[in-house]
Amino acid sequence: NILFIKGFMILFLSCITIRLNFCISSIPFSLKTLPLEGHFSFDELDLKNAAKDFGNRYQSHPMTVLHPKSVSDIAVTIKHIWNLGPSSHLTVAARGHGHSLQGQAQAEEGVVINMESLNVEEIKVYGGEFPYVDVSGGELWIKILHETLKYGLAPRSWTDYLHLTVGGTLSNAGVSGQAFRHGPQISNVQKMEIVTGTGEVVNCSEEQNGELFYSVLGGLGQFGIITRARILLEPAPTMVKWIRVLYSDFTAFTKDQEKLIFAEKAFDYIEGFVIKNRTGLLNNWRLSFNPQDPVQASKFKSDGRTLFCLELAKYFNMEETLEVNQDIQKHLSHLNFIPSTLFQTEVTYVDFLDRVHISEVKLRSKGLWDVPHPWLNLFIPKSKIHNFAEVVFGNIVKETSNGPVLIYPVHKSKWDKRTSVVIPDEDIFYLVGFLASSSGPDELEHILSQNKRILEYCERAHLGVKQYLPHYTTQEEWQTHYGHKWEIFKQRKSIYDPLAILAPGQGIFSKSI
Ligand code: FAD
Repeated sequence: NILFIKGFMILFLSCITIRLNFCISSIPFSLKTLPLEGHFSFDELDLKNAAKDFGNRYQSHPMTVLHPKSVSDIAVTIKHIWNLGPSSHLTVAARGHGHSLQGQAQAEEGVVINMESLNVEEIKVYGGEFPYVDVSGGELWIKILHETLKYGLAPRSWTDYLHLTVGGTLSNAGVSGQAFRHGPQISNVQKMEIVTGTGEVVNCSEEQNGELFYSVLGGLGQFGIITRARILLEPAPTMVKWIRVLYSDFTAFTKDQEKLIFAEKAFDYIEGFVIKNRTGLLNNWRLSFNPQDPVQASKFKSDGRTLFCLELAKYFNMEETLEVNQDIQKHLSHLNFIPSTLFQTEVTYVDFLDRVHISEVKLRSKGLWDVPHPWLNLFIPKSKIHNFAEVVFGNIVKETSNGPVLIYPVHKSKWDKRTSVVIPDEDIFYLVGFLASSSGPDELEHILSQNKRILEYCERAHLGVKQYLPHYTTQEEWQTHYGHKWEIFKQRKSIYDPLAILAPGQGIFSKSI
């Protein structure tokens, strides 16, 4: 009897294993039979590329890469995976330009959707009193800039680097020096087309399917794939006055930054960065002043001191040069920077917005672009920025040679609290970005341990800091990150992606098998 039961059990388990193996091995075949305009690629090189990102530290190998030629290709694929049910292990990651830092656009053994293949869809610009542009979710911001400029228009809110996709930045927030006035990019979207985790194609805006609209904005790809977006535009200038001034006193620096973000019309772009014992090329990756300029602010000798550089830009057209210059002088005269440290230049609007790309080309030529990037980005409440600066710039960070350290304030009122992004609960908060590149394992180790010390200090001192482009490894940490928003975040996930198929690389939810 015992022998009979044992034999039966072995037979039963073998059947299950064979069935499971059959299911897994038949998945690529079942994907291949889907009616698509684009195609699935199983090419080794394609899979290898989809397993990498700008951060250059995390690698998850997908089973296949979808190159969609239509929104329907994406919907059909996700619906198929949804229909396989919870017993299938397949997940789906939309990959924009792959400029994530910790594998956020990757899917181990899953499907990576190469969103840039969707760029067959037209960029449509609409003028009038409230101009806007309709674009594909896989479109690069640099291309949108060039297209909209043909109509004398441009998006209002940017990131510092434009070779990123619309879907990629809207899944985070999209923050740069224009955010003090217009809010992040997620505050400048009017409507979107989304493919949800069940394969439905849904149009959404504030008025129509508003819950999905706000879930997706800053939603880390958790609720749907952005296939189209309507972005607000403004009249574009042709030229930019680009100014940098230095401070040795942090209080004077932040006081001026905060004064300027309230002086609505003074400047069109306000950022800043920290200089501490800087040397080397990596300092300059973010922007390069006209080489004809006598001295460059970022090369200023800090002699061991910590300096703070306020970076400003004023947009203008040639015929306004005189009055813009007078206006700038007036505003600068009210600031308390070190008088001998005024650096200014004039560049075209495109060169200003695309400034990081110029540095990218230089760094690539020296093999310094495709290195590990252990970045840390934080939102810090204004009331705690001095404590933070004292400890972090005073004690933890010894030099800023391995990449820029950005610091600038924004208004909470320009961020819509219905979106999924998490920010500090204070009217003004600072974005502080440690954008390090590492040239070897020792340096990487050093930067990672510095990041850890910064995070530990923030936690110990209860600064109310939130990570931007967040990365956590446990759901408890995510829960803490989202705080009171966690319940609604979870609820939204259960509505729009109930099987947790989407964006597994964020590591927030795992597919329920
Ligand atoms: P990916 O890395 O491909 O994807 C990011 C996440 O979004 C993934 O989870 C992915 O699954 C998801 N996703 C991608 N496309 C879609 C879609 N269509 N629908 C739904 N989900 C999608 N950020 C700022 O805010 N301000 C800056 O100034 C700034 N500067 C940067 C400079 C550089 C050099 C780099 C490398 C990054 C910078 N970033 C900045 C960060 C950047 O905004 C994010 O890393 C962004 O996610 C990158 O866009 P991507 O198209 O490469 O997205």
